[in-house]
Amino acid sequence: MEDQNAAKLSSIKTYLLVALIFNVLSVVGLAIASLIFLLLLVIPFLGFFAIIPIVALILSIMVLSRINQMRGAAEAGDISKLKSINSLGWAIIGLFFAGIVTGIMLLIANGPINELKLETSRYQAAPAPLQATSKSGQTKFCPNCGTEMPISTAFCPKCGTKQP
Ligand SMILES: [Zn+2]
Repeated sequence: MEDQNAAKLSSIKTYLLVALIFNVLSVVGLAIASLIFLLLLVIPFLGFFAIIPIVALILSIMVLSRINQMRGAAEAGDISKLKSINSLGWAIIGLFFAGIVTGIMLLIANGPINELKLETSRYQAAPAPLQATSKSGQTKFCPNCGTEMPISTAFCPKCGTKQP
């Protein structure tokens, strides 16, 4: 489970890096376009169209900031945060305003991000010990983590759980 997560995380990081690079390119392009359109403000009516690249620029920067947060969460291995920032809606906004490559990368990353297992489900999936004490009766198993310990132990030496 952990290894699957690690493999998925590493490909997610790659998708996000490519998305980020193309996002930066689109921000630069849109900034130049906005500037050119703003220069047209001197011409009545035409300047009005400056609103188009400026709105696109703002959306592109918002996508960029989101990708940056996702990369931070992926780097830190914070899967629940990564899942909460990830959104198909923003991937589609990215497709239109942050460059086609950025949008496609976000759409591709969406799959493995959804498949990532949360930390808690890893513990739930850990095989629970079938018996509370060993065959010899001299040791018992922690109900939380399954560590074997002497029968008289009050607290699990591994996870610290109070023993019944
Ligand atoms: Zn334990």
